[in-house]
Amino acid sequence: MEFYLRSCLKTSADPKDAKQEIEQLLTDAEKTILTKGAPEGEGAKITEWNLSDSGIFITIVSGRYVRSHDAIARLKKPLADLLGKKYRIGIRGIEAEEFKIRLPADKGLKNKNIPYVKSVTFENNMLELELEMGESEMRNRVPDRILSLIEDKLKQDDYGAKAEHWNLLWESEDKEFEYFKDPTEDMLENGWLKRGVGRGQWVHGPKITKLFRTFEQIVIDELVKPLGFEEMIFPKLVMWDIWKQSGHAKGIYPEIYYVCAPKTRDPEYWEDVMDYYKVTHEVPTHLLKDKITEPIGGMCYAQCPPAWTYFQGTTIANESVPIKIFDRSGTSHRYESGGIHGIERVDEFHRIELVWIGKPEQTVDVADKLHEQYMKIFNDILQLKWRKAWVTPWFMAQEGLVGLSNEKRVGTTDYEAPLPYKGENGEWLEFQNLSINGDKYPSGFNVKLQSGDELWSGCSGVGLERWAAVFLAQHGLDETKWPETFRNRFGDMPKDIIFY
Ligand code: ATP
Ligand code: ZN
Ligand code: MG
Repeated sequence: MEFYLRSCLKTSADPKDAKQEIEQLLTDAEKTILTKGAPEGEGAKITEWNLSDSGIFITIVSGRYVRSHDAIARLKKPLADLLGKKYRIGIRGIEAEEFKIRLPADKGLKNKNIPYVKSVTFENNMLELELEMGESEMRNRVPDRILSLIEDKLKQDDYGAKAEHWNLLWESEDKEFEYFKDPTEDMLENGWLKRGVGRGQWVHGPKITKLFRTFEQIVIDELVKPLGFEEMIFPKLVMWDIWKQSGHAKGIYPEIYYVCAPKTRDPEYWEDVMDYYKVTHEVPTHLLKDKITEPIGGMCYAQCPPAWTYFQGTTIANESVPIKIFDRSGTSHRYESGGIHGIERVDEFHRIELVWIGKPEQTVDVADKLHEQYMKIFNDILQLKWRKAWVTPWFMAQEGLVGLSNEKRVGTTDYEAPLPYKGENGEWLEFQNLSINGDKYPSGFNVKLQSGDELWSGCSGVGLERWAAVFLAQHGLDETKWPETFRNRFGDMPKDIIFY
């Protein structure tokens, strides 16, 4: 891996009188400031330099330690001191005349459209990026982030596109099924729900709604109360700042619903839109798009990130950990491509999210207790066939957190169940998950613990549509065939709404 930078330090006057001293300074620098912090022999090297009547040209080649752009920044001050004191010459800034990163790779890049990258070439197992940027970008570590981005892209290719690591942790005993219909179709026929106007959206009738609420009550009775979680209300319109801090801003774009605000509330500004509608009875979306802001954020995707605003920049008292909270205050929205199907993969869904924050051992302990309670719920109350698997989701992979996994227990456990209507070999559906996120969120949102111990967090998302999809696929719609343990909690089936 190599950084090559030919830069020019612009001077306010011809620096030729200082040539000898500059030479001395550069020679010394290679033994001092350009090696500081690097292993023996790994410092930055000046391969060439010369003067013009308005600048000092310096070419620096480096590895990953004292990188060329850091090296030139380190040289700037001593050079400015030298020229300023004796020669009254100022340094006006640094320009990158030629800036390249070379790194070994086994293939080129698909997307060559990277900010500040002028060209990307791939030859003889070497990837060469030509950068174009100013001093402030160099100072703000843009070249380093470009390098990490490229390294991530290369790693991701190895990892397999969107693949998750998957390891079975536990599997329930086999079960005989008696119902083999697709419950969504069955519910549609029986008036349990109707399609919403939006894609992947449903209007849930009284029966399925009662099913959701019963699930919710089970979560309250079996998880929230015994484990001492407290209810909070998390925002559902999520600003970019939150996704920047949670890490989602790195990759969430294909899956979110975007939100824009009106440019102004002034009714006059909107008059043409109103008039257009009144005359045509069409909403003029082509006019709207110029009257609204750029997206200010998106609809809730994962529930927990906006909760962190409550903790951001604070130090939590020792007596308050582990903090255990949950939210069920609104919908989550995802743009699910071709995959939308029935109620199990929808664009608008309902989920309870449990979040806990504490020292690493507390975080793991809460996770273990939740796993235990879930086990009871799925075995004893809902009586499902299901399994648990250890997976590493894309965002962890993107954060470079893979591999911490098993020892420290950072990572995600997916809960999955078969849908009998899909047949023996049908894909199992993830109906909920539980993640131990390590210090990802506390560090992203700058939250500390009074004792100075490391702070971790975890979260678990109970998808009500997914629970319903699994429960109904395995037990059917006829409540008299549902497990007694569940019927007790469900009570009487609401009456149908009859249409003439
Ligand atoms: P999948 O791989 O099935 O798309 P995911 O990995 O995207 O799931 P997570 O991001 O882990 O799901 O979301 C947590 C939980 O939210 C899921 O376990 C599920 O219960 C629920 N969920 C996610 N996406 C949807 C959806 N499109 N429709 C209904 N529920 C969903
Ligand atoms: Zn979460
Ligand atoms: Mg998904």
